[in-house]
Amino acid sequence: MTTNPRVRDWTEAELDVPGELREVVRAPAAVLSAVGDVVDPTSPDVVRLAADLVATMRVSPGCVGLAAPQVGVGAKVFCVDVSEHPKTREHHGTFVLCNAEVVSGSRNEKAREGCMSVPDFTGDVKRPSRIVVRGQLPGTGEEVELEAEAFEARALQHEIDHCDGLLFLDRAAGAHAVYARKTYL
Ligand SMILES: [Zn+2]
Repeated sequence: MTTNPRVRDWTEAELDVPGELREVVRAPAAVLSAVGDVVDPTSPDVVRLAADLVATMRVSPGCVGLAAPQVGVGAKVFCVDVSEHPKTREHHGTFVLCNAEVVSGSRNEKAREGCMSVPDFTGDVKRPSRIVVRGQLPGTGEEVELEAEAFEARALQHEIDHCDGLLFLDRAAGAHAVYARKTYL
């Protein structure tokens, strides 16, 4: 796998607006099951939203990604940062993508997922462990394509799902694949 240097070197400093903390909504909030709107990545509202998502992710222990619907905004925008996670191998650090989609995926793997919007449960979800994702960077609106694998690939798919109105619970194999959370980070 090769990391995309443009995405890897991106930081929220590029947005040039201070991120503010937003409240994270929990299931069954309707916004979490709605398909998010396609956004203009250059609009000031989207740039502010991108900064707020990163700021809110940063103050949330163990949080490796946050999508706009989780802060009550029905839009296709999310941030990811798996760099601090022990399961991480190669990664792109912190970045935000707008209007992202999975272009291709391979090598299905099952793993446990959690979500700030579903705080009482975790679940086993099968997803491709190598993917190609395409999206746009907030601010400049540049189109970027990146390869991701392992934990970063999983985090990206989890966040893209949020933008499409899906929770990991919708992807779990059934009630037997959902577990009450015993420990809180
Ligand atoms: Zn989530």
